[in-house]
Amino acid sequence: MKSSLVDELKLIAGSDYVLTEQQQTNAYLYDEVEKAYRPEADKSSIVVKAGSTEQVSAIMKLADDNCIPVVVRGGATGLCGGCTPINESIILSMERLNGILEIDRKNMVAVLEAGVTLMDLLEELDKYNDLSFPVHPGDEGAQMGGMAVTNAGGARAVRHGVMRKHIMGLTIVLPNGEILELGGKLIKNNAGYNLMQLILGSEGTLAVVTKIVLKIYPKERYSATIVAPFENFEDACCAVMDILQSGNLPLAVEYMDKHLFVGTAEMLGLEWQAKKGNADLLIILSEKSEDQLYAACREINEICERNHSYETLYAGKTEEQQELLLIRSQHYEYIKDSICDSFDMAVPVSEVSAFIRDLKMLVKEYDTDTNVIAHIADGNVHNDILYLKDGSVPDYASELKQKMYDICFSYGGTITGEHGIGKIRRQDLILQKASAELELMRGIKKVFDPNNIMNPGTVL
Ligand SMILES: Cc1cc2nc3c(=O)[nH]c(=O)nc-3n(C[C@H](O)[C@H](O)[C@H](O)COP(=O)(O)OP(=O)(O)OC[C@H]3O[C@@H](n4cnc5c(N)ncnc54)[C@H](O)[C@@H]3O)c2cc1C
Repeated sequence: MKSSLVDELKLIAGSDYVLTEQQQTNAYLYDEVEKAYRPEADKSSIVVKAGSTEQVSAIMKLADDNCIPVVVRGGATGLCGGCTPINESIILSMERLNGILEIDRKNMVAVLEAGVTLMDLLEELDKYNDLSFPVHPGDEGAQMGGMAVTNAGGARAVRHGVMRKHIMGLTIVLPNGEILELGGKLIKNNAGYNLMQLILGSEGTLAVVTKIVLKIYPKERYSATIVAPFENFEDACCAVMDILQSGNLPLAVEYMDKHLFVGTAEMLGLEWQAKKGNADLLIILSEKSEDQLYAACREINEICERNHSYETLYAGKTEEQQELLLIRSQHYEYIKDSICDSFDMAVPVSEVSAFIRDLKMLVKEYDTDTNVIAHIADGNVHNDILYLKDGSVPDYASELKQKMYDICFSYGGTITGEHGIGKIRRQDLILQKASAELELMRGIKKVFDPNNIMNPGTVL
């Protein structure tokens, strides 16, 4: 990058906050996508750590005037290469924009800078004892700005929905440096097109988010976790449908193939207590009173039994529940060295059982297997393609992926329920979307970012 540009960036952000040496910038190139299928980063990219919305504005204007790509880096917990610069870029790190500006109890909103991590927010709300925020993608290092623009979901979406539902306002900086306030603390606001909703899920391709007005909620104090073992996933899926139709709304309903629960527990030096069956549901309940919690547990237990579950296990103590969650959340460590691609497809919840069945039948045709992990009550299924025994990528990998997508589409599904398109699924988006819809998306991108400086090569 031209030294005169670097000098200007240093003037804007302060010289301590502009990193140009590869030794320093190397830590800013990748997200959590596995090495085997991550995009290759352009190592000549430099890092700028902005300290205010005004600095972001000045950086964007400079970049736009010089047609330099800008890749915003949040917590870098993304799973689709979104914050990896594939051209020589300014990596705009949001880590300094980490202020919790206001906890407004009257309106039940928090006003946050975009670099506040989920962990920061939860720790802050803990101080109030009676406040909470429900959206929880697996990694608490995710920043609120990153969670907003990826419209993050996670296990609790079954009850609380995804980020989109909880954001009331954004401060954004357009690629040309203009600062806009979208939405605010208003519950109702129908003035014009909703540009704020367009930014949510835009994966850093339209604007930089610097501030967020977020809904917060009263804490639910009583929680329990049920492990329901079934002989097969078909019965487990029927139980999920019945639970949803019964009016019970668990905080989370998670599915993993049994061998993943057992293997991950072993890896952690623990033991998976549900011995029977092949398909386990982890059902997390959270209620305002003990009576409500017991009533929900009883009803859900009955529903599982009606759908032929083996005896369910109940965890009420915090430590027991945390152990179960740990096993659920660490499964990736258990499988990651064996997979060469992983997916985040979603289908209507009524189709999950048939979808999983077809995926499992398909991989058998290739004499391989696939690990199934699902936010099952959202119809959101994570599965993968395995390396061959000799550690190589199978030559059928792209054919198999295409066939998995075809099954997903045949059930009215999407190639990504929550992780997004990023850089690794760009070619796949074309398989799902009509060309007229893609054209509209390209048009929107052009209006926001005529010089295509915002995270080029992402989404579109
Ligand atoms: C173990 C694990 C489990 C996960 N589980 C889930 C899950 O259950 N559900 C789920 O939805 N996700 C999950 N994720 C993915 C990830 O945590 C989410 O996508 C998260 O929202 C990304 O936030 P981030 O701050 O890390 O963003 P990053 O990875 O830093 O960036 C993601 C994208 O957003 C852009 N971006 C970041 N901040 C801004 C900003 N302020 N303004 C404009 N653009 C910005 C980046 O350029 C990039 O394109 C998981 C990840 C891990 C590692």
